[in-house]
Amino acid sequence: SDSVATTDPAVDAALKDELRRERHQIELIASENIVSKAVLEAQGSVLTNKYAEGYPGRRYYQGCAPSDAVETLAIERAKSLFDCGFANVQPHSGAQANGAVMLALTKPGDTILGMSLDAGGHLTHGAKPAMSGKWFNAVQYGVQKDSHLIDFAEVERLAKEHRPGLIIAGGSAYPRHIDFAAFRRIADDVGALLMVDMAHFAGLVAGGCHPSPLPHAHVVTTTTHKTLRGPRGGMVLTNDESIAKRINSAVFPGLQGGPLMHVVAAKAVAFGEALKPEFKDYSRAVIANAQALAARLKARGADVVSGGTDTHLALIDLSPLGITGKDADEALERASITCNKNGIPFDPLPPVKTSGIRVGSPAGTTRGFGIAEFEAIGDMVADVLDGLRTKGEGGDASVEADVKARVEALCLRFPIYQD
Ligand code: PLP
Repeated sequence: SDSVATTDPAVDAALKDELRRERHQIELIASENIVSKAVLEAQGSVLTNKYAEGYPGRRYYQGCAPSDAVETLAIERAKSLFDCGFANVQPHSGAQANGAVMLALTKPGDTILGMSLDAGGHLTHGAKPAMSGKWFNAVQYGVQKDSHLIDFAEVERLAKEHRPGLIIAGGSAYPRHIDFAAFRRIADDVGALLMVDMAHFAGLVAGGCHPSPLPHAHVVTTTTHKTLRGPRGGMVLTNDESIAKRINSAVFPGLQGGPLMHVVAAKAVAFGEALKPEFKDYSRAVIANAQALAARLKARGADVVSGGTDTHLALIDLSPLGITGKDADEALERASITCNKNGIPFDPLPPVKTSGIRVGSPAGTTRGFGIAEFEAIGDMVADVLDGLRTKGEGGDASVEADVKARVEALCLRFPIYQD
């Protein structure tokens, strides 16, 4: 056979290691999820062989009928999932989707206004090291010191002072609902377009458990692989036909060449899954579980940024425990729990250390964990953190071994990717 196992043992070993890791670790990385076998199958399909530059019915290559079929399914399902008039499902990633909006609606040197990285924004929203920060006059807003909520007085002041052409709402580590209507009012006041990047919470919108940005934003971008539980990729949505045309040209031929048709097929499958009633239950559970986890960590002495969460993620401030995000995420990995260190608003520590960790419930909820399991996970995390507190940055090896065994027992009760 010409399977990976026979032809390429080195890659095969890494793939098997990853499957083992996912089966036996508790995944708390808020931007990750566990896709269905159907999504995996579509993504691993022969459509990876196909060039289909263009859009359904308007391709630059022959042999595109199956590609047209899957892309049309993905588009129509995305439109009904998010109740909107237009979807471009071709962006290779969330960053590409955001780049396409900028290419469509702005010119280099224009002023854009987005949330700063420190406050929970994303690199593509105008951060200094990113293209969005280098090619634009990027102005950044943050959150209020006491509430950790978006500082709308600052957004308004900066918008009036700098007159951006594009205002960006959304982020990667913001746990609360965003007031899209307030953003739109400010955008209208200064003649800016409003883009909402719902990458993190798109699945919650799809499941009807989170306000939708579509009635407010001129254009909405998202990834498809976080709460939405699809393949790694991006998407752009809008209700405005003229913006839609500009987005299509910006994605192809503006920014990308051939779409990843195997990924587009997997997006279609994932959107089909998200249209099912079970996905509503899933997204409701994701939020309840994140709230249970955050509450447990708070009860065990950590601070929770903004006091809690309305979404799938919580940002945990470890400074009351006297430990850093870096020490915490490394110790937790030793105990088979994966999460990421994350700066908290006004963090005195640099991004390589940080005072916090970001935790999320999408992956655990997919494997079936409920509130009781997430409370237990909160205790496991807190036990590891207590070990760091008492033993210093190397952690407490015996506590970590004990937690690792508890993780293993829990994972065995909720298996994934069984044959
Ligand atoms: N936008 C937001 C809000 C994100 O959190 C992310 C990824 O973390 C992206 C965009 C970028 O997505 P990708 O990693 O697919 O480029």
